[in-house]
Amino acid sequence: MLHIALHFLVPLVVAAVFFRRRWQYASVVMIVTMLVDIDHVLASPMYDPGRCSIGFHPLHQPWWVGVYVLLCVFPASRLVGLGLCIHMFLDAFDCQLTSGVWVNPVSNTLAGFVVQGGLSSLSSV
Ligand SMILES: [Zn+2]
Repeated sequence: MLHIALHFLVPLVVAAVFFRRRWQYASVVMIVTMLVDIDHVLASPMYDPGRCSIGFHPLHQPWWVGVYVLLCVFPASRLVGLGLCIHMFLDAFDCQLTSGVWVNPVSNTLAGFVVQGGLSSLSSV
């Protein structure tokens, strides 16, 4: 519950501190980036409080964070990039608190299935 509250509070604080003149617009844009969690619909179960999102869901892959950081460079996409970076940091921090890891070692991507399938077939030999 605190995790979800932080997804609203941190963008609000960042907007209030760094975007004083347009804090309302900035906070709304950053909060709307929570839509990145739409990738949870591909998982089963859709929501698992004990599961680490980073490295598991398609839009929560570590390489995407590089794209989100890049979005922060350009003024037109800066608020979206910042909102996504805040989101990923909060998710990773939640992973650290609940599982002791920053990134889920079990990937939900095609590459993850290939690697895990390969590893499990090796262990069954
Ligand atoms: Zn998330």
